[in-house]
Amino acid sequence: MSCVCASLGDPAIVTLGDEGTAPFSTVHQRREPFDSISVVQCPTCGLAWLRGVDDSLHDVEVLRRLSAEELAAIANKDDWPPDLDTYDVMQLCREAGVRTVWRDPERGSLPAGSMPLASMTALWVMADIARQRPNTTVTALAEVLGLDRPTAAIIAEQAVQEKGVSIRLRK
Ligand SMILES: [Zn+2]
Repeated sequence: MSCVCASLGDPAIVTLGDEGTAPFSTVHQRREPFDSISVVQCPTCGLAWLRGVDDSLHDVEVLRRLSAEELAAIANKDDWPPDLDTYDVMQLCREAGVRTVWRDPERGSLPAGSMPLASMTALWVMADIARQRPNTTVTALAEVLGLDRPTAAIIAEQAVQEKGVSIRLRK
């Protein structure tokens, strides 16, 4: 029986909901704030993949093969490799030219003076990244989110105030 594994790149960027990887089952889930990361296994060939998800700006899962040693460290010691966090997944998407999808800011009525939904999304994403990688710079956040730096700086400052995360606002 054949499976999708042989046709997947390493790393592979797959659209969320793609049928090819749908049969994969989650065998390990990384704890908060890294809960966007898990280990999934192919039911056909048994191959284990590290999986990172970005369901806010790119709607993708990124998969990379795990070595037997890495898998054992996760299973036995809850010791995870450092990659495929939200920042990493977004950077891979940018490098691969995956289109960024900002939600429609026109949808739904917003109270006067509130932020457009796109900025809300940026705020949540920045907070997520900062929880996983404290002291990330505004410059790095602007780059990975595809925002100009002044805009990123305003949103980052708001993330620091409202979400209590640490971001390096002057770099
Ligand atoms: Zn497989």
